Amino acid sequence: MKGAKRAVGFWNPKMELMSRADLQQLQLHKLKATVAWANERSAFWRTKLEAAGVRPEHIRSLDDLRRLPFLTKEEWIKSQQENPPFGNSLATGQELAMRYHQTSGTSGRTPLRVLDGRKDWEWVAEMWAYGIHGFGVRSGDVAYLPFSYGIFIGFWGAHYALEKMGVLVITGGGQTTEARLSTLMELGATVIVATPTYALRLAQVAEETGIDLARDSKVELLIHAGEPGANIPSTKQAIQEAWGAKAGDFPGMTECGTIFAFECSEQSGAIHIIEDHFIEEVINPKTGEPVNYGERGERVMTSFGRGLMPVLRYRTGDLVEKIEASSCPCGRTFDLYRGGIIGRIDDMKIIRGVNVYPSAVENIVRGFHEVNEFQIVIGKDGPLDEISVRVEPSPETNQSTVAGLGTRLAAELASAHEGLRFGVEVVEPGTLPTFELKARRLVDTRGVGGVNSPFDKDLAYNSR
Ligand SMILES: [Zn+2]
Repeated sequence: MKGAKRAVGFWNPKMELMSRADLQQLQLHKLKATVAWANERSAFWRTKLEAAGVRPEHIRSLDDLRRLPFLTKEEWIKSQQENPPFGNSLATGQELAMRYHQTSGTSGRTPLRVLDGRKDWEWVAEMWAYGIHGFGVRSGDVAYLPFSYGIFIGFWGAHYALEKMGVLVITGGGQTTEARLSTLMELGATVIVATPTYALRLAQVAEETGIDLARDSKVELLIHAGEPGANIPSTKQAIQEAWGAKAGDFPGMTECGTIFAFECSEQSGAIHIIEDHFIEEVINPKTGEPVNYGERGERVMTSFGRGLMPVLRYRTGDLVEKIEASSCPCGRTFDLYRGGIIGRIDDMKIIRGVNVYPSAVENIVRGFHEVNEFQIVIGKDGPLDEISVRVEPSPETNQSTVAGLGTRLAAELASAHEGLRFGVEVVEPGTLPTFELKARRLVDTRGVGGVNSPFDKDLAYNSR
């Protein structure tokens, strides 16, 4: 693999190698300052803290974090609807903002609107620099960013981090997939920054046009964010094989404007939390109580970098499992999330009494390398729920492979799900939607909760 020889490195060794005791002292110091700042400057936070009976001087230890109320997306959006467009959580005047972003806001849903001040924006880039440098990117690399450069945060933070690191940045907005491929080949890109889905899409189009990315491109590292994939073993393997390069997972979110964790060059199957800039709690979503290392729960984020719109104890809805820093051989003292963001708290489906996670289905489907794209469909068969998977083989797949595909896939899916019957439909190439950002591959037609229509895809990217 082309990126394998790159050395372990630390963007900020003082912080990344600090003892846990010192790190916790630093977190406490920053937590006190953030709570005081929010309380003094933001009407939203002052009201919220008052209602919870918490004053800044109550924060004396890290355990006191739990005295702070949770922040939910619903109340944040409600504040923006009542005080449009930005709500009343701003800690400074709007005139200090210099960047605007919003969540992708699938149709019908109100987007969350976010402003960054100059200092916030520098911090956004700094967080990405921890991750990208930690994965092996260095000055001298040539990075290609094939994304739309719209108001969705996407890879904006990565762009600024790469500039800051002295990497040559090639912007791939507004091009077709074919044009993007020629650009990255001509300019000798060594790093690609894209969603996992789009990296696979590029690889498919390359194959169709006779380019062998693993052999002919100079790409050594793939930086992935925007959706799960780089943390799903089969998907990661498919990307790495297609490109002959290392693929890393860098989850972020609009609410903090940047990444909060990253995969290091050791690729230990877990991502490091950037703990000098975030406190990440894992709670039981029903009780709100913390869970132990190694137990799954909901990720709750406190950010120290967003000054203009403070974020304290934000309930992300992400399903995670925290493990200790020593689980990764790189030497960082930052704790990790095993398997990255495993899914969403609410995305587990129960079909005929069997728990089904979309990410687990993806892991099995992506193990079949002849599959280009897929879709999970949940519906009703009379009173009973039923689940099926529609798969689209690559055009090059020979007919005998296609013929057996449905049977083999159905058997693997059933054996991983207590024998649950999965219908498998093999569709013609070009039938299923393709995506650049935020792939939506689950269709639930059962009525309530069936919100994921494949046609509800404002960011979908159909090859032009
Ligand atoms: Zn590591």
